[in-house]
Amino acid sequence: MSMQHEVLVVGSIGLDSIKTPFGEVFDVLGGSAIYFSIAASFFTSVKLVGVVGEDFPKQYVELLKKHHIDLSGLQTLSGKTFRWKGNYGYDLNEAITLDTELNVLANFNPQLPDVYKDIKYVFLANIDPELQLHVLNQIKKPEMVVCDTMNFWIHGKRDSLIKTLQRVDIAIMNDTEARELCQESNLVKAGRIIRSWGPKRVIIKKGEHGALMFANGSFFSAPAYPLEEIFDPTGAGDTFAGGFVGYLASCGQINDIDMRKAIIYGATMASFVVEDFSVQKTSSLNQQEIKDRYQEFQNIVRFGE
Ligand code: AMP
Repeated sequence: MSMQHEVLVVGSIGLDSIKTPFGEVFDVLGGSAIYFSIAASFFTSVKLVGVVGEDFPKQYVELLKKHHIDLSGLQTLSGKTFRWKGNYGYDLNEAITLDTELNVLANFNPQLPDVYKDIKYVFLANIDPELQLHVLNQIKKPEMVVCDTMNFWIHGKRDSLIKTLQRVDIAIMNDTEARELCQESNLVKAGRIIRSWGPKRVIIKKGEHGALMFANGSFFSAPAYPLEEIFDPTGAGDTFAGGFVGYLASCGQINDIDMRKAIIYGATMASFVVEDFSVQKTSSLNQQEIKDRYQEFQNIVRFGE
């Protein structure tokens, strides 16, 4: 794959405390950029832009290095690392945020190392949309910009978010977020509204029900993997994005079929991350396991000629 691109990601790096009906963990490795980077690292090389505090455990830095993630854009500031506390009930599709402590993220002013500025593939993971734009503005000639967000920013910084979306090729968000952002309950209409702001494609994730892709003249509906053991859904969205963008970056020239395959790679990676807390499952995967599950996805949607 000679045309393989590297991917730059900016997003949160955090310590998560999570309770699901199946267990509870405190201060485990999390954050949108982390889930994304580890998933994408199975497809291409990843350059990370993010910030941590002085309390960020060294073993987590080692884990990122093990995945060959370029950390020259990682800042350590005095203060505490971003923290998120969330709960899930038996409907695992909906995270209930109990607490968001921005900490060092509140003073983050990402300055890209020069070697990052020529990058072509960019993922703006869930973080303050003003930071997303600030990073994008430093990249000379991006070819593929993909963006994610969440309700925290839709409620708090809607106007900035729409400004970021104007500069994006593909927007990814979940169904609730798309409905809230567009103030529209119908997802087909919401997809159209988001596309009218700029993105050529919109991917709307529906948790355990799969994902939809809207583009001009093309519609794709992907299933979710029928997992029986979902332990913790945290990071599913960012891991989906990691598989999706990572695969696209490994393709070179991209057509509509590649986009569809990328969605299935995204869904494949997401189906792994929810099997354990944090990145425990995705960080210990191998290429064969990914290939096998991708193949199972193909079997799920096969229905004859
Ligand atoms: P998801 O893929 O949507 O489940 O994202 C989960 C990750 O998002 C968690 O690891 C959190 O640390 C992170 N997160 C939660 N709230 C925010 C926020 N307001 N901004 C950025 N990242 C967040």
